[in-house]
Amino acid sequence: MDFDTIAAVATPLGEGGIAIIRVSGSDAIAAVDKIFKGRQKLSTVDSHTINYGHLIDENGETLEEVMVSVMRAPRTFTREDVVEVNCHGGIVSVKRVLDLVLAQGVRMAEPGEFTKRAFLNGRIDLSQAEAVIDLIRAKTDRAMKVALNQVQGKLSKLIGKLRQQLLELMAHIEVTIDYPEHDVDEVTRTLLSEKSRWVQGEIEKLLSTAKQGKILREGLATVIVGRPNVGKSSLLNSLLQEVKAIVTDVPGTTRDIIEEYVNVRGVPLRLVDTAGIRETEDIVERIGVEKSREMLGKADLVLLVLNFGEELEDEDRNLLAVVKPMNAIVIVNKTDLPQKIDMEEVRRLAGDLPLVTISVKEEEGIEQLEEVIASLFFSGSVQSDDLTYVSNSRHIQLLQEAYRTIGEAIEAVENGLPVDMVAFDIRRTWELLGEVVGDAVSDDLIDQIFSQFCLGK
Ligand code: GDP
Ligand code: ZN
Repeated sequence: MDFDTIAAVATPLGEGGIAIIRVSGSDAIAAVDKIFKGRQKLSTVDSHTINYGHLIDENGETLEEVMVSVMRAPRTFTREDVVEVNCHGGIVSVKRVLDLVLAQGVRMAEPGEFTKRAFLNGRIDLSQAEAVIDLIRAKTDRAMKVALNQVQGKLSKLIGKLRQQLLELMAHIEVTIDYPEHDVDEVTRTLLSEKSRWVQGEIEKLLSTAKQGKILREGLATVIVGRPNVGKSSLLNSLLQEVKAIVTDVPGTTRDIIEEYVNVRGVPLRLVDTAGIRETEDIVERIGVEKSREMLGKADLVLLVLNFGEELEDEDRNLLAVVKPMNAIVIVNKTDLPQKIDMEEVRRLAGDLPLVTISVKEEEGIEQLEEVIASLFFSGSVQSDDLTYVSNSRHIQLLQEAYRTIGEAIEAVENGLPVDMVAFDIRRTWELLGEVVGDAVSDDLIDQIFSQFCLGK
């Protein structure tokens, strides 16, 4: 495909030491050549070399000392000719260099346009491109590794394998339909049902990673509840300090959201604003048991804090009842104070919920709390960073739909329905899986996906 030549600043804007202006397209080398003065013309240098020189403006003045990388198609990120100008990182000089490049008939890239070209030029598929977004936004190392696996095409490969199987089945059915005198025999039916079941099983496995994948990607919506003064704010601060708050700033997006994340052993906790407060007190008294259950039910994790130095009150008991069916951890704080709380009663009311005693003041038990949080969400599962997680809502939706349609195929086969009905469901499954990797997706969807990127990616 042939596109115009685009440019953008590829490094975060700010007072960094070095900035990179990336130019991609068939005119990339010629455009930068017009303003570059070095030992050699860029049009004559070898591909994948870095070249020292100066940028010269329209008046022949030397503007900047630069290093220019020249990478010729197709062995580049976009599969087009790519030139990267490394210059000093100050905002003023970066802007000057970018303006000079743009004055050479190069267009300013839209957010995500480089990655979009890599996709459109066939270097990566859609799920890989989407993973680049995740990579940029990854909140913990573990989330980063998962995204990286996807960028490297692990999910794509798996999907490809499943689609291959479905394709073979489709071919098989085709043959049977073409020779109707050979009615679908038992062998074919058995084969269809076995292979379809295998595909369904694989989709199910993928879907089973979705919950963890989504958590890694989006963070665990967390609310801290408890009576006034039990130490919710203190716990929050301690978690924030201990493991460093990760403030993610997603520049270049329309939302420009700033959210706070706490990294607990690789699990990103997103401290959510439930009805305007992320620590909630007097919640039962204020809105009643049912309502608070509904409200807290939206959280992925509830931390209920009690006070070791005071007797249990009815509000504590109410809260325990509310969070009992949830993903909750009961935390008894202030163990440094003389005990007034009846731990037997707490244990009884907490039922199966994990129970942790801590003292925020003495910094005791916090480690154990973190361990409980991590194990709650990665329990039993092998904590392998190699796992292919499905984390993207679009993928999850498609996989759920594919799980359903292959299920219908299996049902049709096993109930002895005509084979063309089976073929229909198998074909639909094949298409749905194709949408995950970007086979046959609409331009609108592509635009929408790529518009989530930052500038310069
Ligand atoms: P919140 O109303 O639940 O948010 O409670 P705060 O975090 O504001 O804490 C209430 C009071 O309890 C503050 O004076 C804290 O310093 C104190 N506090 C918090 N954690 C502990 C603890 O572990 N031990 C003791 N002795 N005091 C604590
Ligand atoms: Zn508070």
